This record gives sequence, structure tokens and C-alpha cells, in this order.
Amino acid sequence: MAPTVRTAPTASGDGVRARADRWRAALILTITRRCNLRCAYCPTVKDGVPDLSADDARRAIDLFVARYGGGDIKLFGGEPLLRPDIVGAVLTHAANVSNVSVYLSTNGTRFDAGILDLLRAHPRVTLTLSMDGAPRDHDGLRRPLPGEAPSFAQIERWLPELLRLPRFVVTQTVAPSTASRAAANFRALRAMGVVRFNLLPGYYLPWSAAQLSALEGSFDAIATEFERDWEAGGRLYLRNLYTRAPTPFFNTGFVVDSDRTIHPSNLVLAEAVGDRTAVGTLDDPPSAEVLAEAAARVPGLLREVYTPEVLASTAAVDAVLTRLCDRLYPAYFRARAARPSHVSGAA
Ligand code: SF4
Repeated sequence: MAPTVRTAPTASGDGVRARADRWRAALILTITRRCNLRCAYCPTVKDGVPDLSADDARRAIDLFVARYGGGDIKLFGGEPLLRPDIVGAVLTHAANVSNVSVYLSTNGTRFDAGILDLLRAHPRVTLTLSMDGAPRDHDGLRRPLPGEAPSFAQIERWLPELLRLPRFVVTQTVAPSTASRAAANFRALRAMGVVRFNLLPGYYLPWSAAQLSALEGSFDAIATEFERDWEAGGRLYLRNLYTRAPTPFFNTGFVVDSDRTIHPSNLVLAEAVGDRTAVGTLDDPPSAEVLAEAAARVPGLLREVYTPEVLASTAAVDAVLTRLCDRLYPAYFRARAARPSHVSGAA
């Protein structure tokens, strides 16, 4: 899974922007490209690439920390929990490194007692689970490989345990086909006990005008839910309020793919890009300057590999997400000023 990022800065007045834009150095580790699902909106090439080894994952962390002094370590796939041994090695190694925050994203179909024990042993790790709402829409967009049980049923079994983890966030993906039901799906997730959300409208997909309008309406309804919750002293959390990046959806940073190559963006995962962003390997890492130059080329590469229609849709959904955030900042900061220890900070 990949996380949500939006590109526009926040614009809610002096002082607000600095607190809202959380933009730290990031190490992005692709633990494995493999995945047991085939989500309708997924751009990731899953086959034909080796998994990362534990030694290489530790080496990447040491390289990242030596270069940047710390930052965010984000574990993605494919599905990273297809390799719990590598994830465990990363969490154990990172626990002994200062000034890093670890984020693990998962489709939630590989939990077991051992993985839950691992997560409980590392309570500072933020677990981000992809869950899109009621079973109809959650399973409708996810095609399990043959022999796999439907995704929702697999997650539901572990949800009570997951909700007890201190840093548990649900990414609700909203595809063009589910945009009109996004608010209902948000309420369905709340009814399951979820309070910490990350909203992910489908980037790099064609959206019709009607679907964009439905997204706008759904996000308005979701914004109202947040405002009412905060006014009533609730604890709803929206990660999008804290995240921003230079390109929509894809993560920019020190990206180590599972084959040990190093990239400025995990755009490398997309089929249309292949290895065109590689600027080194763990044996021959790029300088900070080379990585920065490669990052500057990413927007041009996006224009090469996606159609103008898809890029326009991407900009449009990113703008809808930014409007949601900008609408919510005033209510969020009012709530945080009134109850500083109650309303969540970034996670
Ligand atoms: S779970 Fe994530 S990596 Fe797997 S198919 Fe779905 S979006 Fe792609």
C-alpha cells in the first residue's frame, strides 16, 4: 500500500501552516513488491522483483540516518506483511536508532498472533491499514488471488485487537466508482470503532465530472462529521492534516526498492515507469545532490507516462482533498487549543 499525500500547502493563516505541514526526511522501504490482492486502482508492478533482505533493510536505515540524522521510515509493498521476518528486523533495528518514526502500511490480510505481538512490542510504530468502508465497497475494489478469502472478513477478525494499538490509522480509499458512497463508508468505519483516518481519493485514474462532484459532496459530509466530533469534544483524527508532498500519491524521499536500487520517489513501483528513476544501489548510493536532481525530474516523468486526462483528474482530486483540509484547520486548531492533550497530534 501507499499513503495519501496532497500537494498544496495549507493556507489557513499565519502560524497554522507551519504546524500543519509535516515534511520530514523519509526513507521508503519496499519490503516486497508481491501482494496477495489485486486492487482495481493499484499501479504497483508485483512480480519479477526479489524481496528486500533483512541485512539490506538494516543497511538502508543506517545509510538514511547517517545522511539525514533521522526522519520517517515508511514500510510499503506490495504487501509488507507477506514478509513478517523482514518487517520484524526493521522494527527491532529502528527501535535502537534515535530520531526516527516508523510507519507500516498493510492491506490487513496477513495478521496473526505473532504479528500482533510484534506490533504490541513496538507501540511507537504507526500501523496504517487500508480499509474502504462497508464490505460491499471494501471487497468490491479488491480482487483476492485464487485461494484467498475476501479481504474484509480477514480484517474484521483482527479489528478489535488493532483498535487497541496506540497508533492505528485507517486509510479509506475512495475510487471514482465509490465516491458517492464515501461519506456512508466513512460512517461505517466509525461504527466499527475507527477514529483515526487517512483519506485517499484515487490518484492517477480518470474521474468524470459527475464522480468529482460526488467526491466533493462526500468530503463535505465527512468534514461536517469531523467538525461536529471536535465541537463535541471527540477524538477523531485525520492524518491528511499533517502530510504534504511534492507529487500526488507517490512518496518522495530516499526510496529503496526491494531489489536494492535507490530512487527519489516510489513512482518506480508504477508499471509505466519501470527502473527509469534508479540513481544508485545500496552498494553505490547516490549523493544527496544526485538524489535531489532526480527528484526534480519526477514531475516531468509523470507528464510523460500519464495522459493529460489522468493528470487533470489527479490535480482535481488533490484539490478536493486540499479543500477538505483547509476547511477543517480552523475547527481542528480551535479544538486543540481547547483540549491540547485530548485532540491528537501528528502520527
Ligand atoms: S493491497 Fe496495496 S499493493 Fe496490494 S493490490 Fe491493493 S493497493 Fe496494490
